[in-house]
Amino acid sequence: MSVRNGRQFISIPGPTTVPDEVLAAMHRPPIDIRTGELVEITDGLLQDLRNLCQTTGFPNIYIANGHGAWEAALSNVLSRDDKVLVLESGSFAAGWGQAGATIGLDVEVLPGSYQKAVDPAAVEARLKADVSKDIKAVLVVQVDTASSVVNDIPAIRKAIDNAGHDALFMVDTIASLGTMPYKMDDWGVDVTVAACQKGLMMSPGLSFTISNRKAKEKHTHANLRTAYWDWTARDGEEHYHKYAGTPPVHHLFGLQKAFEMINDEKLENVILRHHLLASATRAAVSKWCEGGVLSFNIPDPSQRSNSVTTVLVNDEKALNEILNYCDEKCGVVVGIGIAALSGKALRIAHMGHINAPMLLGTLGAIEMSLQALNIPHGKGGVQAAIEYLAQNVSV
Ligand SMILES: *Cc1c(COP(=O)(O)O)cnc(C)c1O
Repeated sequence: MSVRNGRQFISIPGPTTVPDEVLAAMHRPPIDIRTGELVEITDGLLQDLRNLCQTTGFPNIYIANGHGAWEAALSNVLSRDDKVLVLESGSFAAGWGQAGATIGLDVEVLPGSYQKAVDPAAVEARLKADVSKDIKAVLVVQVDTASSVVNDIPAIRKAIDNAGHDALFMVDTIASLGTMPYKMDDWGVDVTVAACQKGLMMSPGLSFTISNRKAKEKHTHANLRTAYWDWTARDGEEHYHKYAGTPPVHHLFGLQKAFEMINDEKLENVILRHHLLASATRAAVSKWCEGGVLSFNIPDPSQRSNSVTTVLVNDEKALNEILNYCDEKCGVVVGIGIAALSGKALRIAHMGHINAPMLLGTLGAIEMSLQALNIPHGKGGVQAAIEYLAQNVSV
């Protein structure tokens, strides 16, 4: 028997739920790609991207997933054999670094941990030791989607400044943009990488780089540039140049609607909603942890992200049973642990197009699985989430 009929819910950290309004906006015939409405849509999207990242910088829209934007960012500002420093805090910054190594960069990883945020003091010490200024860029993620840690971007900027280092500061916001504050200009980020299918609620396929003047200046000397990713080529006169070919017409319709929804709700309210739903999730998980089988992957509460919560499960059989039960019996797909946490964790995503019933439904299904499978856990996790929300969402 099962109670899974109805709409399946994906609680995975990307792609996330696409709103019906966004799907509907994509359901129309293509239009002219040279003049008129589509050109205006592109201009609007570029401005929306600046607003989301709080910058006056230079955005680009790529027909690619996040891995494409990673390569775009690196190839536009760096040259063969340049050294880059990757700040580890899970799997994604390392993945970005590996992509860089394959295109000819000399990648050094500043060792970190899956259990905690990047330590700004370690960044400062490493950069101070680089007296010959070999390091050309520092790469970090704002939220690591595997560990669910949040890194303190302004503190890392300060560490770079304290070391008196002029490396480019490059930040991956793929799992954080639209879920927490991000201030590219105030925080002194030189290149931002983002993608559409997580906090931004769009069907996968678009990703973004945003650069500032310093990055643009480095771009003029970079020799890893290629025809397709190249910012300068994409600055050409024709609308067509912005996409290095045919624009992704329907994706642009969808993204326009997703940004309209964010603007209607207002970014600060979107961020507050994420904070509330993430805190409710943590209230539930805290209870479950009392059973000794589940635990937070990130022990320090101040380092837990508002987009995803990684929960360690110290029994792989129980973990698989929870995931299967939620999917097969309840119709909720919960995220699996990835990279070093493969077979060791589950991930509850709470980003993008999500509200209290969607989140409470997921938490309810997980708690139901714990009970049905006799997995030791503190009772009342969902109740704790409800209490948190009732106390913090005022009438
Ligand atoms: C999802 C994700 C990526 C990879 O994005 P793809 O679209 O899957 O290529 C990179 N960085 C972070 C932080 C992510 O969450």
